[in-house]
Amino acid sequence: MEKKQFQAESKRLLEMMINSIYSQKEIFLRELISNASDAIDKIYYKALTDDTLVFDKDSYYIKVSADKENRTLTITDTGIGMTKDDLENNLGIIAKSGSLAFKNENELKDGHDIIGQFGVGFYSAFMVADIVTVITKPLGSDTAYKWESTGADGYSIEPFEKDTVGTEIILKIKENSEDESYDEYFEEYRLKSIIKKYSDFIRYPIKMDVKGR
Ligand code: ADP
Ligand code: MG
Repeated sequence: MEKKQFQAESKRLLEMMINSIYSQKEIFLRELISNASDAIDKIYYKALTDDTLVFDKDSYYIKVSADKENRTLTITDTGIGMTKDDLENNLGIIAKSGSLAFKNENELKDGHDIIGQFGVGFYSAFMVADIVTVITKPLGSDTAYKWESTGADGYSIEPFEKDTVGTEIILKIKENSEDESYDEYFEEYRLKSIIKKYSDFIRYPIKMDVKGR
């Protein structure tokens, strides 16, 4: 298992997410579903020019699984997956869609502008989770990896077992505190309403699997 540190800029964004007082934490789901959809798009476009690859619509979907007992929320996709390099280079850096916001140091003081106006990307998961685990197998490779982070301390990467190509993002949802409850993210109606609100335009099916009601 390898332990790595985040780049300084990434670490700042991460710390901001971890300590976020932003009220619309629900947008983490929009970001993760949008990444899942992007990952399926990549296979779709690859199949257009690669005859050995067939895009069978029924095999491509996104799934949101909630497990209240274990306090996990898992976003699964059958997209292109990530290589070890992708994990290090893409998850370790600031969202391209969000990077604009970093031009102005003042915007960093209070995260509202950044989160509201730009996609903050993958790191937004840390607004609701204290451990984020990514299990992924890239297209065209036999090796799958597990990437895991508990936040600003850095992340670990190790080879892992996964049969199918694609990515699974497992969020260990934060414990409730005096000020804030996170239990809503295990409720089917709540998840459905977040998905409807932000991800209605997604071209792939979004399945749902809710345990422990
Ligand atoms: P952005 O989507 O703006 O590039 P993100 O922070 O949301 O920024 O994601 C960073 C990168 O991590 C993506 O560009 C992509 O390369 C990779 N990534 C994130 N989630 C997935 C996923 N589910 N499948 C494949 N790659 C992913
Ligand atoms: Mg994104």
